[in-house]
Amino acid sequence: MQVRNFCIIAHIDHGKSTLADRLLEHTGTVTKRQMKEQLLDDLDLERQRGITIKARAVSMRYMHKGEEYELNLIDTPGHVDFQYEVSRSLACCEGALLLVDAFQGVEAQTVANAYAAMEHDLAIIPVINKIDLAYARPEEVANEMEQSLGSDPESIVKVSAKAGIGIEDLLTTIIEKVPPPSGDPDAPLQAMVFDSNYDDYRGAVTYIRVMNGTIKKGQKIRFLRAKSEYEVIEMGQFRPGRLPCDTLTSGQVGYLICNIKSLKEVHIGDTVSVPGEKASEPLTGYSRPKRMVYCGLFPSDGQDFSELRDALEKLSINDPSFEFEPETSDALGFGFRCGFLGLLHMEIVQQRLEQESDVDLVQTAPNVTYEIITKSGQTLMIHKPQDVPDPGDIEEFRQPIVRCNIVVPTDYIGPVIQLCQERRGIQTAQEYLGPTRAMISYDIPLAEVIYDLHDKIKSCTRGYGTLDYELQGYEPADLVRMDILVNGNRVDALSVVCHRADADRRGRAVVKKLKSEIERHMFEVAVQAAIGSRVIARETVTAMRKNVTAKCYGGDISRKRKLLQKQKEGKKRMKAVGNVEISQKAFMSVLSTG
Ligand code: GDP
Ligand code: MG
Repeated sequence: MQVRNFCIIAHIDHGKSTLADRLLEHTGTVTKRQMKEQLLDDLDLERQRGITIKARAVSMRYMHKGEEYELNLIDTPGHVDFQYEVSRSLACCEGALLLVDAFQGVEAQTVANAYAAMEHDLAIIPVINKIDLAYARPEEVANEMEQSLGSDPESIVKVSAKAGIGIEDLLTTIIEKVPPPSGDPDAPLQAMVFDSNYDDYRGAVTYIRVMNGTIKKGQKIRFLRAKSEYEVIEMGQFRPGRLPCDTLTSGQVGYLICNIKSLKEVHIGDTVSVPGEKASEPLTGYSRPKRMVYCGLFPSDGQDFSELRDALEKLSINDPSFEFEPETSDALGFGFRCGFLGLLHMEIVQQRLEQESDVDLVQTAPNVTYEIITKSGQTLMIHKPQDVPDPGDIEEFRQPIVRCNIVVPTDYIGPVIQLCQERRGIQTAQEYLGPTRAMISYDIPLAEVIYDLHDKIKSCTRGYGTLDYELQGYEPADLVRMDILVNGNRVDALSVVCHRADADRRGRAVVKKLKSEIERHMFEVAVQAAIGSRVIARETVTAMRKNVTAKCYGGDISRKRKLLQKQKEGKKRMKAVGNVEISQKAFMSVLSTG
């Protein structure tokens, strides 16, 4: 049987899931009746039914000119946080459908994904979707695609995934334009692991693309990077549910079940081969997931610590790219420091935690991973600001820089450029995608991006600007660790890393905020911001005088009760810093301002 392996790349909401549904339907992989909208996307549905209908690689059968084809649609995670996983998925395809919304036009993720597909030498089939829309502008969008991506306007396939227009044409184009996989079915086994998921009953399900050789049910396999060996208990393809088979040969895509207890043992990008001398060479390009964003997660009620730990453990079985370790904070008690691939990944994990456990969470402001060269020549990777050494011990302070591609209507170029300059960006390119749209590229510190860049771009372009970014590497910068001291005691949870030029402003803002949240004591309380031993901002909470309590007397009785009740609740959540009592609410009000 002839095989074609392809993926769909698109900016979010341009219709990738809908198109996948139509392809499944048109090839008879699922019947209309079975078809639930957005079959490929629905995690909740998957959970309810307890079966895997969410497949990252669906195998379809299609007759074309009297010959049967196996069309494997490989899903790529759409977001930059999962860039490495996107790249591994692309490495399993020979072609890509580049899908663009007929109204929205080319967006930041369209461009980023198209470049990635080109780097993997994929045959690219440009597709304009949503031509059924009354306000569709297919001609202009075709021009944008020609300008920005070099697509030949003649070759663009026009479809409506929703209305089912042009699907037959598209299938023909896939068969004609996507090259068949090369590879030798008799060579030593070499298969790429491009995804995995966890089945409560069967353990890890490993997704593979066979590059060379043939894999058989019951045989022994070896993961070359993980250096682990298993027996293939079950293998098969997603059509779209798991359909077992006995062999998969070079060019084919499918899954393996090998009694693997945790997803931690399956590494995306690893190579499956055989044990011993007949093993193939490992495939190139393997790398470990890089955690770029960290934050602290604390139960707001200290009693919930072990419940939170259980929830985190459960989550990490399903998501090996997320990591956590216990952390103690003077301010917030016992909790965990958690590492994520990026901001979106962090949001996903938090959402899941909230859905799947009852723990009320306190999250500290996220920070990036810094690299520090010490005076003694050591290189430290720092995941939390309080671990940054004192200024005297630092030779070089480095931070991650990302290349941002921002697509905006030309009217908004000015404000976006100003925003990027303010965030210490360095412009690397600017080009027009068409008469009304431009793409601006900037290298910006990741710390500035995760702070609020995405929201700010949305608001200064009325929602029309789109942003995508990619890690460039680490660069030295004039960074400092700013500490907050309360009566001379450093409050670990409130240390931040910031640019030296911003330290004064941020320091003043934090101490002012914290001062307003600290209740008066019998003595004076000094709130200071400091870099090393140098104080850069100070506020004072003056000592309590007798008449301050006067507000508790007189007045209406119910108000007084409320006040007392409030104080009682507040007490529960008080933390002591030296001899000063600070409410958790005070910490949170400071932490949430970043
Ligand atoms: P994805 O984020 O790329 O997976 O996009 P979806 O498939 O979820 O589609 C986003 C929205 O566009 C949904 O509301 C779809 O119903 C809608 N949509 C997708 N394809 C079409 C189309 O061909 N025509 C119209 N009018 N709407 C579409
Ligand atoms: Mg989708």
